[in-house]
Parts: sequence; C-alpha cells; structure tokens
Amino acid sequence: MTTKKSETKSSGKFERPDGRKVNELRPIWAKVGVVPNADGSAIYASGDTIAIAAVYGPKQMHPQHSQNPEKGTLRCTYLMNSFSVNERIKPGPNRRSMEISKITEWALEPVLMLKDFPSQVIDVHINIIQADAGTRCAGINAASMALAHAGVPMKSLVTSVSAGKLDKTLVIDLDKEEEDFEEGEGPTDIPLSFTGDGKITHMQLDGKISPAQLKEAVEMARESAKEIHKIQVKALKDSVEGDKK
Ligand code: ADP
Repeated sequence: MTTKKSETKSSGKFERPDGRKVNELRPIWAKVGVVPNADGSAIYASGDTIAIAAVYGPKQMHPQHSQNPEKGTLRCTYLMNSFSVNERIKPGPNRRSMEISKITEWALEPVLMLKDFPSQVIDVHINIIQADAGTRCAGINAASMALAHAGVPMKSLVTSVSAGKLDKTLVIDLDKEEEDFEEGEGPTDIPLSFTGDGKITHMQLDGKISPAQLKEAVEMARESAKEIHKIQVKALKDSVEGDKK
C-alpha cells in the first residue's frame, strides 16, 4: 500500500504524516527481564514497532567444529513474525531476515569482548512482534539491552535509529507510511547504530542522498541516539532497583 500523506504545506513547511517534528522520535517503551528463561532479555518498542530480544549464553559452541578457539561467536537470529504485519507473510527465515541477522551481529560485535569467550557462543534471538518500519533498529536496541541484562561484558550499549530523507527533508525514525512516501525524490532510509560515545558501528543506505545531506542525517541520528541511549540505561537501572525491592 502506498500512501502519500506527507506533504509540503502552502507555507512551504514539510509535514510528517503523524505530525512529528523532523527530529522527533516515535514514543519509546523499553524494559528488560521480559523472558524469564533467558539469561537476559528486553523489549523495545518504537511507536508501533515492537522487538523482543532474548540472550542465551555465553555457552559452549556446538557443534564442536564451529568453535573458534581464538574468540567467542555472537550469533543473532532476527525473525519478523508472520503476524507482525497486516499483509500475510510466509513464516520463517528468508533472505531479508538473514541479512538483518548478519547486520545485527556486525552492529553489536564492536562493543563485545568476544576474545574473553573462546570456543563459546552468545545466542541472541530477536523477534519482531509488530512491524511499522525500523525493525532492524528496534531489534538492535532490544538486543543490546538484553546482552547487558545477561551480564555479558560490554564496552557500551549500542543504540540504533534510522535517519531518512522524504523528498528533500531530513527526518528521524521513519515509520512505514514514511518509508512508502513517493513524492519528489521519494524516501531514503539510513539505519545507523552507535556506541555510547557516538561511534558508528553500523550504517546502511536505501535511496539517494548528497554527501552533505548524508553528513547532516548522520548528525541528526547521533543526537537521537543519545535520547534512546538514556531510555535504554534507565530500563536497565529500573530492573536493578526492582531486584533490590
Ligand atoms: P526495517 O523494518 O528495519 O525498516 P525494511 O526496510 O526491510 O526493514 O522493512 C521496512 C518495513 O516494511 C518493515 O518494518 C515492515 O513494516 C515492512 N515489511 C518488511 N518486509 C515485509 C513483508 N514481507 N511483508 C509486509 N511488510 C513488510
């Protein structure tokens, strides 16, 4: 379905379909400890996009021939559930989910001390239970919180958000309606992930953008990531406070 509600008003001002400011995130909800059987877990919701991550490990890697004696392995499995979107989708893994699983590993690996876990594996299962775009970012945010909740040593959390361009206007955290925007230059989607001190661990680009605007979009995402990072930290702190009670 293609919608074209984003428009330029006669005043020349660009309006997002849900009325957000260009640098405004969707409402966020985050909580850790949501899957009791896992070693660590988290839920991260951004508007109507909801991701749950569950961490198992570090544990001995099986089969043995997959073990790396030099360092541990981070193994992420991203799954967009068939009920997460309105249209029917084929259940189970596909090329897109395999790509996003790999991307998620690359986004998270730079903050993990995998050398401390030779021959072991850390499994991270990411389930998208509702999708309204930005699911890889929500998944990475949930995964990073779940890893911290599992007590896996990390240099920092990883925070992910997508920047984008709708025709000529830069915006943050695109929803599905915006991803389908077709006016002028159409949509550009740039998912990015950052360490706590703002270093990029992952960046993708779907669409067209000039180098100058790309630089601006990255800075916008970096600022938004700071807001998300605070919410991730608060969720982790709240769980510790909850344990003390
Ligand atoms: P992301 O969810 O990280 O933005 P994509 O850009 O691949 O990843 O997908 C954008 C959005 O398109 C998803 O969040 C989801 O809402 C929708 N989508 C993706 N794949 C499908 C599918 N197979 N069927 C229906 N909707 C889909």
